[in-house]
Amino acid sequence: MTIRRLSLPQSPREFSMRIGGKVIAPRERDVIERANPAHGTVVSRYPRATPDDAKAAIAAAREAFDDGRWSRLSGAEREATMREVIRLIEENRAELREIEALETGKPIGLVDREMGGTIAHWTYAATLARHTYGDTYDTLGGDSMGLIFREPVGVVSLITPWNYPLMIASQKLPFALAVGCTAILKPSELTSGTSLRLAELLVEAGMPEGVVTILPGYGQELGETLCTSDDVDMVSFTGSTRVGRIIGRQAGEGLKKVSLELGGKGAHIVMDDADLEAAAAKVALGATRNAGQACVSGSRLVVDRSIAKNFVDAVIAEIETLKVGDPLDPETTFGPLVSDTQKSRVEGYIASGDSEGATRRWTMDTPDLPGHFVRPTVFTDVASRMTIAQDEIFGPVLSVIEVDGPEEAIHVANDTPYGLAAGLWTRDIDRGLQMARKLKVGTVEMNTFLAGAPELPLSGHGASGTGHERGRFAVEEFTHLKTIQVQLGKMR
Ligand code: NAD
Repeated sequence: MTIRRLSLPQSPREFSMRIGGKVIAPRERDVIERANPAHGTVVSRYPRATPDDAKAAIAAAREAFDDGRWSRLSGAEREATMREVIRLIEENRAELREIEALETGKPIGLVDREMGGTIAHWTYAATLARHTYGDTYDTLGGDSMGLIFREPVGVVSLITPWNYPLMIASQKLPFALAVGCTAILKPSELTSGTSLRLAELLVEAGMPEGVVTILPGYGQELGETLCTSDDVDMVSFTGSTRVGRIIGRQAGEGLKKVSLELGGKGAHIVMDDADLEAAAAKVALGATRNAGQACVSGSRLVVDRSIAKNFVDAVIAEIETLKVGDPLDPETTFGPLVSDTQKSRVEGYIASGDSEGATRRWTMDTPDLPGHFVRPTVFTDVASRMTIAQDEIFGPVLSVIEVDGPEEAIHVANDTPYGLAAGLWTRDIDRGLQMARKLKVGTVEMNTFLAGAPELPLSGHGASGTGHERGRFAVEEFTHLKTIQVQLGKMR
């Protein structure tokens, strides 16, 4: 499929929200306006939901869950509605792609790939609607039997970030729906458009009213209600570790189930026997995909000293092949950061690399570009305890740390508070698996990077969070167990 160059809209797109069957237009609330990160043009307007809106959405989800209009359907019925949602996402792919590209500032071609990922997650999750089941015990003696039901956890609050808006919503929402939960999804205030459009597609697909509400608004204003309401049974959050701690505290106080997918400081470990050409391409991708704004970015390169110099040259050569430019152009592969705040933050980290004594080995030579662009930058002579090797920068900055052999590589890779993802390059599968076992992360990608699949769970250790999503294990996240023990025949 050819993707055409995108134009900026003449006027911003207006999105409404829908709570319990009532459609609320932007003019009925204060408005959140979103400007395109490359051009500064306002592209979207959403109503700014209030805590009372959050309460109404939760009440609708509670009622919808308790009366069984979704939770008591058969798996096959839920699957059928989800398949209709998938059909509509596919049918509206170009429009969703356009909204996402305009709001995030991502290159349009990359957004299209993400739409493929969104569809893949919904498609996989739909299969789980018919594969959610419990267990039985008939080994308890002749007159006893145990039935273990796996039941939907109930009403879930889903809170998502701006970096992969529809894709991350799709790592949560369809999995929760598959097992019978009802949900309130609060997207990032920066990029709510595709989630709000999805709300319309859900109605069109026949999703019963109240089962899903998309609530556009600020986390600081809506978060407490979404995390503490007695009518919410679970909170599933993806975002920063800072906000994850707040949410964990709030949800913990109410003893709610909570899943936190947080920040990362991924290490890309390259051993001396690796396929260096393939590794260089993926290290470059891992550091610069989405302008470095990915939780699973490989923002540290932990490389064997014996190959370091040539390998870093090869990585830089790969990054140089990026097409930096207007993200509305389908040829572009590297665009701006999402906001001015994010740009200042990343520039602050680059300055800290300079001041802490790392060597700024390379900065991409590009013409000045409008908007929130930051040039890809590679630091060498980085020590593991420097700020640029410890903090999640969330920008196109690669910190190179040289090591002598696998033991030191593992030690350095594990030397941050985070534990989300790592890349590992070696042709020696025995050595690779031994190393992978010692890495304190939720995901290790060996001889590949940013591959992923809806079947494979994503989870973090340490400051990267708790819980898991995607894969069949997502069923466990969004369900709980009920044991029914049955006395057979007359009680003796
Ligand atoms: P963020 O934590 O600032 O915001 C995420 C969401 O939380 C937004 O919807 C925001 O409105 C909301 N929020 C903000 N304050 C809140 C509060 N007090 N209570 C409730 N909700 C609140 O994160 P971000 O800047 O949008 O996203 C970037 C971060 O997300 C990075 O740290 C990145 O690593 C992380 N992330 C993690 C994963 C993962 O799977 N582990 C995936 C993508 C992004």
